[in-house]
Amino acid sequence: MIEKRDFYINGQWVAPAAPRDCAVIDPSTEEPCAVISLGDVADTEAAVAAAKAALPGWAATPPAERLALVEKIYEIYQARAEEMAQAMSLEMGAPIDLARESQVGAGSWHIANFIKAAQDFQWIRPLGDGTPGAMIAMEPVGVVGLITPWNWPMNQVTLKVIPALLAGCTMVLKPSEEAPLSSLLFAEYLHDAGVPAGVFNLVNGDGVGVGTQLSTHPDIEMISFTGSTRAGKAISKAAAETLKRVCLELGGKGANLIFADADDKAVARGVRHCFQNSGQSCNAPTRMLVERSAYERAIEIARETAEATKVGPASLPGKHIGPVVNKSQYEKIQGLIETGIAEGARLLAGGPGRPEDLNRGFFVRPTIFADCTPDMTVMNEEIFGPVLAIMPFDTEEEALRIANATPYGLTNYVQSGDGARRNRLARALRSGMVEMNGQSRGAGAPFGGVGASGRAREGGHWGIEEFCDVKSISGWAE
Ligand code: NAD
Repeated sequence: MIEKRDFYINGQWVAPAAPRDCAVIDPSTEEPCAVISLGDVADTEAAVAAAKAALPGWAATPPAERLALVEKIYEIYQARAEEMAQAMSLEMGAPIDLARESQVGAGSWHIANFIKAAQDFQWIRPLGDGTPGAMIAMEPVGVVGLITPWNWPMNQVTLKVIPALLAGCTMVLKPSEEAPLSSLLFAEYLHDAGVPAGVFNLVNGDGVGVGTQLSTHPDIEMISFTGSTRAGKAISKAAAETLKRVCLELGGKGANLIFADADDKAVARGVRHCFQNSGQSCNAPTRMLVERSAYERAIEIARETAEATKVGPASLPGKHIGPVVNKSQYEKIQGLIETGIAEGARLLAGGPGRPEDLNRGFFVRPTIFADCTPDMTVMNEEIFGPVLAIMPFDTEEEALRIANATPYGLTNYVQSGDGARRNRLARALRSGMVEMNGQSRGAGAPFGGVGASGRAREGGHWGIEEFCDVKSISGWAE
């Protein structure tokens, strides 16, 4: 059992003001694997006060020094990658190979992209031709609160902490109480890299406690949040009184439009993408729309792909999928599978209950529903498990209409050999991101959505800008 009750405040590990233990459950075994403490008002106050005191010094630190510190963090992150993979695999159930390659890898990728973006980031620049003495300066927003979920822990933590550091902000991180171990380790990396006391602080806690204390705190200028649409709304309301900037990365219900002229691997690739990380990705392509002439063949491939998807404990090496994160997610997913059946979707693979060979752990059978209709629950609700809904379409217009008929708008996908059609759909799909023919986002591309997916833009240049206030200056001495 790992014991990690302390918080990281003002450059030190400190005991909680009023200790409140919280078990971290290993989702592969349903047994506690660690114990942390949940913070209270006094802990949040101490962390915010430390960040506030450190702000003037950090904001005034030259950007090149801030960048050098992030480069040091990157080195440590790479050198201690195995520990990080083990922590994430244990706390949220990512199979160890996925944890090593993708979960740790996402963090490395973001840090590297931020370093590149910071190298040519213009912190102060002329407004433009014909406006002598007019300058645009990018100033740190101030003290920021960072609230992250459990599904891609280091992906989300690096997307927030690193640009906040580069921009000159000081911060309080509240990681998910479901997956706190990776963030505690990350705090060690920051400490060892020499981040000055008070610049980065970590308080564990839950949403109603530390989460709300940060969202309502008068000394916090901005909340950067990734998580559910439900919590995003609660945070927006809580933050309104103090007029904070609120940047939200929320849920999704991505459509994957597969045309008859798509490449041979498009369907299998779409199924595997939906099931990756046990379906616990906000940008998962969970609605597969297939052109009718290719539909029968597509559902055959989809069924075979689902049946070939192995499920097993996170500690085992291999390409299998792991459990979902906890009991309530497991039960929610089971309920949605039952609803799919009750509403008349055709169960093509998987179904309710655990895979046959597993009698404990939050394991879900890789499930596919075919012949879905746009009104079905499985086509509308974010399931956050390995569950794919498939339906046919007849025309491009119909596919576009169905794809856009969701309050979410994070990532949509198009598979087609017709370049003109791809480009047309890339513009017409209502989402922050469109990925086509299996090509994933480019290095430094902004991650974010529209509508109920939230409107933050994280990563690379845009990610640094999010932690800046734009200042307009005139009368600047040449
Ligand atoms: P969640 O919203 O329950 O929790 C996320 C974080 O918010 C946790 O740290 C939690 O403690 C905190 N929180 C919860 N309620 C809060 C409140 N009222 N005030 C302040 N903080 C609060 O989400 P989750 O279950 O951890 O994560 C899954 C969700 O995250 C899914 O809906 C998924 O789509 C979404 N997600 C979005 C993205 C994205 O970038 N768009 C990325 C990953 C996950």
